[in-house]
Amino acid sequence: MTTDDASSTLAGLGSVRALQEDLYRDLHAHPELSHQERRTAGRVADRLREAGCEVHEEVGGTGVVGVLRNGDGPSVLMRADMDALPVREATGLPYASAVTATDADGNEVPVMHACGHDVHVACLLGAVSLLAADTGAWRGSVVAVFQPAEEVADGAQGMLADGLADLVGTPEVALCQHVLPLPAGSVGTRVGPTLSAADSMRITVHGRGAHGSMPQASVDPVVLAAMIVVRLQTVISRETRPGEPAVLTVGSVQAGTKSNVIPDHAVVALNVRSYHDETRTAILAAVRRIVTAECDASGSPQPPEFELFDRFPLTDNHRDATERVAAAFGRQFGEDAQELPLQTASEDFSDIPVALGVPYTYWGIGGIDPDAYEAARAAGRVAQDIPVNHSATFAPVLQPTLDTGTSALVVAALAWLGRS
Ligand code: ZN
Ligand code: ZN
Repeated sequence: MTTDDASSTLAGLGSVRALQEDLYRDLHAHPELSHQERRTAGRVADRLREAGCEVHEEVGGTGVVGVLRNGDGPSVLMRADMDALPVREATGLPYASAVTATDADGNEVPVMHACGHDVHVACLLGAVSLLAADTGAWRGSVVAVFQPAEEVADGAQGMLADGLADLVGTPEVALCQHVLPLPAGSVGTRVGPTLSAADSMRITVHGRGAHGSMPQASVDPVVLAAMIVVRLQTVISRETRPGEPAVLTVGSVQAGTKSNVIPDHAVVALNVRSYHDETRTAILAAVRRIVTAECDASGSPQPPEFELFDRFPLTDNHRDATERVAAAFGRQFGEDAQELPLQTASEDFSDIPVALGVPYTYWGIGGIDPDAYEAARAAGRVAQDIPVNHSATFAPVLQPTLDTGTSALVVAALAWLGRS
């Protein structure tokens, strides 16, 4: 007999709150770029050891795994991401970041926790502390995964390639949450496709360079690229089922240097968002088909080159796992537990449960001051007035954001691990 009554575990919230807020402010003031999360990882490992976890460090670079064992029973994996973004913070908060760092290309850039991953780290550490302090309420194992490099889409794969599966075994379920521009105190779950799959593609098409006055000697890659951009507009409008959400954006076209020189190649970069694997496969195949055919039509002297990068998997929440979490949230949060709208953002979390072959669910928590959110909503100005993730003014309020995110993880974990 299990129960997801979390009241005894959550009674400890008051005793960890001050420590957790301090930790959050510290993480926020010391953000680190993807793959550089060394200081953060050190803080995480210390806290996990204090909570009595078995700790594995440097998993896939800077990743950290904490395992809290509490007798026989199922295991629940929870994941928080740790990286920040090259954004100059403009929140004006007393604990705002003034940090700069050297990015992967060697450039000095400002760094900010503009996506709220500091919230995720603080909440997961808080949840582990609460569960460690109330071992009478549950049995089994809690596996806390602190992942690097979510923003560049390869942190989860990096941990998997470095043996994550051997460390975590086969959990019953994998859980994850993200702070979003919704009212703080609220939680949102969704069954099925929730975050889009994302694929970026760089396409190089080849022509034959010539003097601008002698086009007959050329195969003009500028015209070829232009035809490709226009024809690609038909992939969503003519080849994707109406009502199926999908996006194909050509974000960059580069060719040539001078008005009277026909260049010898052009580079087209595009981004695709989709919510079903079949749609994703069909769109990417259509892009290759159209580009190859346009190159043939132009008499291109060599085949086009395709390079996929910044690929995020689909986040497709498992029905049973999501319904179990949603029911537990309903009991804990009442009306503040709602259905999460379909999100256009993307995440690499699902790489982990997919590789482990286990069900997963990914939910949202609000981070915006509820009064400010309500004022913006009443004025019809949510889009204009509420800062979103990745903006320089994205500033989750400490509370009730941290309490809610911590409680959500505890409540969800106990839906599998709890006992009466
Ligand atoms: Zn982000
Ligand atoms: Zn994020």
